[in-house]
Amino acid sequence: MELTKMTMKEISNYLENYKTVIIPVGATEEHSNALPLGTDSFTAEALAIEVGRISSRVVGPTISVGNCYSITYEFKGTISFSPKTLILVVFDYLQSLYKHGARRFLFVNGHGGNVAPIRCAIDTVAAEFKDSRFAVGSWWLFKELADLYDNAGHAGRGEVSMMLYLQPSFVHKEFFTEEKKTLPQYFVSNDKAFGEITTTGIINDSQEGSAELGEKLFKKSVEVYLNMLKALES
Ligand SMILES: [Zn+2]
Repeated sequence: MELTKMTMKEISNYLENYKTVIIPVGATEEHSNALPLGTDSFTAEALAIEVGRISSRVVGPTISVGNCYSITYEFKGTISFSPKTLILVVFDYLQSLYKHGARRFLFVNGHGGNVAPIRCAIDTVAAEFKDSRFAVGSWWLFKELADLYDNAGHAGRGEVSMMLYLQPSFVHKEFFTEEKKTLPQYFVSNDKAFGEITTTGIINDSQEGSAELGEKLFKKSVEVYLNMLKALES
């Protein structure tokens, strides 16, 4: 169930019986010339909706602009909140849900730059909220996926496969490429990212993916999120 498609009465009835809301967080960010800018948002949203469908839990509106302040900020099309803005967006989002009775919050995150701001927002509300629990899952980091792929880089095999499974018409295979750099053991400023990290917008991977792999990654990730949900509500 998607919150934006429910009425006031429906969400009110739901919150009397359940305290959980699933929150998809993505990004609007370059993903090379082969994948759409909304890749992280499409993936997070699809995962969240499937988890919500199976568990009969409500999915909140997708936060589809994330923190892309480093590296990909320089590439055309990327729209970014600053880290501190994203903290405030998540903070306000959580406060609204809490005010109306939600007490369990499962973040389905699709983008690396969101991990720290989401954590900061949770740390901030944790001091104020009562009787609440929070979980954050970033699918590409799940150790349960390790047998399926090797934690592929940005716009690489994992994301390509997810998009071939979820939104194949948005994938431009003719632009598949690879950029296998040895990533430095340090962070760089954005003027250095272009060149030291990537010149194609793909980071440290090839784009040889498949819809079959995408389906496996998707279904396994859903399983992991469902387990997180169970723990959150236990
Ligand atoms: Zn991505």
